[in-house]
Amino acid sequence: MSGKTPVIIPRIHEAEHTPVWQSELARAVRSTEELLQLLALDPESVKTGPRTDGFPLRVPRGFVRRMQAGNAQDPLLLQVLPVPAETATTAGYQLDPLQETTTMPVPGLLHKYRGRALLTVTGACAIHCRYCFRRHFPYTDANPTGEQWMNAVRYLGAHTDIHELILSGGDPLSLTDGRLAQLSGQLDTISHLHTLRIHTRTPVVLPERIDSGLLDWIARRSQRVVMVIHCNHPNEIDDSVITAMQQLAQAGVTLLNQSVLLKAVNDDTGTLVRLSERLFAAGVLPYYLHQLDRVQGAAHFEVDDLRARKLHAGMRERLPGYLVPRLVREEPGAPGKTLLI
Ligand SMILES: *Cc1c(COP(=O)(O)O)cnc(C)c1O
Ligand code: SF4
Repeated sequence: MSGKTPVIIPRIHEAEHTPVWQSELARAVRSTEELLQLLALDPESVKTGPRTDGFPLRVPRGFVRRMQAGNAQDPLLLQVLPVPAETATTAGYQLDPLQETTTMPVPGLLHKYRGRALLTVTGACAIHCRYCFRRHFPYTDANPTGEQWMNAVRYLGAHTDIHELILSGGDPLSLTDGRLAQLSGQLDTISHLHTLRIHTRTPVVLPERIDSGLLDWIARRSQRVVMVIHCNHPNEIDDSVITAMQQLAQAGVTLLNQSVLLKAVNDDTGTLVRLSERLFAAGVLPYYLHQLDRVQGAAHFEVDDLRARKLHAGMRERLPGYLVPRLVREEPGAPGKTLLI
């Protein structure tokens, strides 16, 4: 190399440089018409709507590309397409099924279980899942900003029995690297926090988010980092997701998955077995298989407990123990998640 003129790489100012994931997020599909068109589906024959202004359709284009064109029953499509059944009012289904708004010591901070606390850091998500139990959640009240965030940090600092902080949302990885750095900077002052757990669907639906900025942020953490990705169907895992998982694993992240059991999406043993195998191939271990939280507008996704147990028994027959997730339900007021088997 000697004798050559060194190449001078111009420094790009942070503000001028929009990460790829942010532009992908900005150009996510937001209309039913466009989504059906991309999938070559006839808008006359697919029942959609109504327009849900509080929780509109949102799906990154990379995720749409994993759907099968021409298939109105595609398991990825069913998770994001608003359908008329969402307006049904179902007995026993609530707006705040976990009664989270009543268990917050500080807005945004949930301390229900021993040793760990959960902080909702944003209401935003890269995708809008129609079954989401937080679809009616008052995020604007619950996201710690400024003074509220300081209160959450004070609470965590004062409770020396909390060793693990779970960042949740919304989706924590919809925050920018700058915002994540700000949050983690304050957490680093709390020496009894050993583990930072991030619950996120972003690496699955927008793997572009796992970029050098995020990997740098992870490398700088003093806590152990656990990431629980939210993947419901084997078709969600394509090569871009596998690459993202490999990069996270290389950065030392422990990778786990939680799924929600969803009618017509993943409620058969074969699909669940393939999901576990596909996750394992991507370096991710199955952690939870959740029964749906009973939130208004999601009843059409429910699988009853008897069937859920049968499907789970089928998984146990066909998979090694370490690829069988725990079948759980979240009950308001319980000291942990309720094991269904
Ligand atoms: C699920 C959950 C946790 C974590 O529970 P684990 O059993 O550790 O996975 C913690 N806090 C809240 C509020 C939760 O809902
Ligand atoms: S990514 Fe998670 S929090 Fe966001 S809409 Fe989907 S299920 Fe809800």
